[in-house]
Amino acid sequence: MRRVAVALVHWPCVDRAGELYATSVTNLDIHDIARSSRTYGVDAYYVVHPIKAQQELATAIARFWDDGKARDRNPDRTEALSRVRVVESLEAAISAETAELGSRPLVLSTSAKGGSGVWSYDEARHAIASGPGTLVVFGTGHGLAQQALDLTDALVAPIDGADDYNHLAVRSAVAIILDRLLATTR
Ligand code: SAM
Repeated sequence: MRRVAVALVHWPCVDRAGELYATSVTNLDIHDIARSSRTYGVDAYYVVHPIKAQQELATAIARFWDDGKARDRNPDRTEALSRVRVVESLEAAISAETAELGSRPLVLSTSAKGGSGVWSYDEARHAIASGPGTLVVFGTGHGLAQQALDLTDALVAPIDGADDYNHLAVRSAVAIILDRLLATTR
């Protein structure tokens, strides 16, 4: 499989009023997205936060499971969390993947809102399979700010459910989207 990475962006995001906003890192998002990443063969999971104290917290949560006792008790969790990389910006995540690949990855963004020109999951699967490598970007709060979307090449279609309510927790959205993009059984 081609190299695939995910990024969870805590800034730049927007709040309820559409204003620029930084969210806090959460233990659940770090753990659960790391497990989904491991399950679907994602090589790196970037936790993006510009604030040093939040970077240190995210690093401490991920590294806790690298300690001898924790590793012995739950090696599956250690393995999942070993792909967490804490970075200060989405640009840094793109640069790190560019260094891994030797060329810029395809950068896909996600949102609960649609829009013209969104890629279907078939289009995205095809691009992932034929491209150099891919970074799939997820937001927090009320979603990615325009300045984050401007760094991406395409927006994949929103997940829709029973009706017009589709506001998923980001860790649920990551699991569904990774399944649609990367599952080997459909
Ligand atoms: N209204 C926001 C939006 O349009 O993205 C919802 C933000 S949601 C709490 C946080 C993140 O989860 C989003 O930035 C997106 O990455 C992901 N997400 C949540 N629901 C989604 C959906 N239905 N389709 C695609 N991504 C979704």
